This record gives sequence, C-alpha cells and structure tokens, in this order.
Amino acid sequence: MSVDSYVDHLESAVRYALLTTRAIAVCPFHPDVTIRIGDDAAESQACARAKNIIKSDGTKWEREALTAEVKRQLADAADGECPQCAQLRDSMPEVRARRPL
Ligand SMILES: [Zn+2]
Repeated sequence: MSVDSYVDHLESAVRYALLTTRAIAVCPFHPDVTIRIGDDAAESQACARAKNIIKSDGTKWEREALTAEVKRQLADAADGECPQCAQLRDSMPEVRARRPL
C-alpha cells in the first residue's frame, strides 16, 4: 500500500502510522475491529511517523490535530484483544460441554 493514498485524510494518515508501527492491529477475523496492542514505544513511534507524513500540497499535519487524532483512535480501539473473539471463545460449545452437569 502506498503512503500517497493516505496523506490527505488526517484519520487515514494516523491510522496508517498506528498500523505500520503495530501500535494497533486489525482482528484477522473481524476486519472492522481495531485492537490497541498497548505498546507505549510503538505508540510514540506512531506519533513520530504521523508527524513526518506529508500531504500532497507539501505541508505536514498540525501537531495538535495529529495528537488529538492519535488519542481518539487509540481510545476507540479495543484493549488488547478483539471483544468479538473473546465473546466467541467464552461461548464455545466445547468449553460448555466440559462443565460438570
Ligand atoms: Zn475478532
């Protein structure tokens, strides 16, 4: 994927930075679920990377706008694991069957 296709949308630029530094990941089973890995180093690296993304008009994103968007996307992401996968795992029939009657 090319960086060029992301640069003119703040949301996409930040998402790109977060994904490529592995600060966030997309659930392999639920593409609409974003998971926050919880890696502080990756998150600050993502901020640094986002600051270096240049828009097609040659300017960079404002630091305040970037920081706010990074925070928003991290807050929106699920913590550590996909909630849908966790729910599925907890309701697996094999697990239920092993419980004493
Ligand atoms: Zn999932």
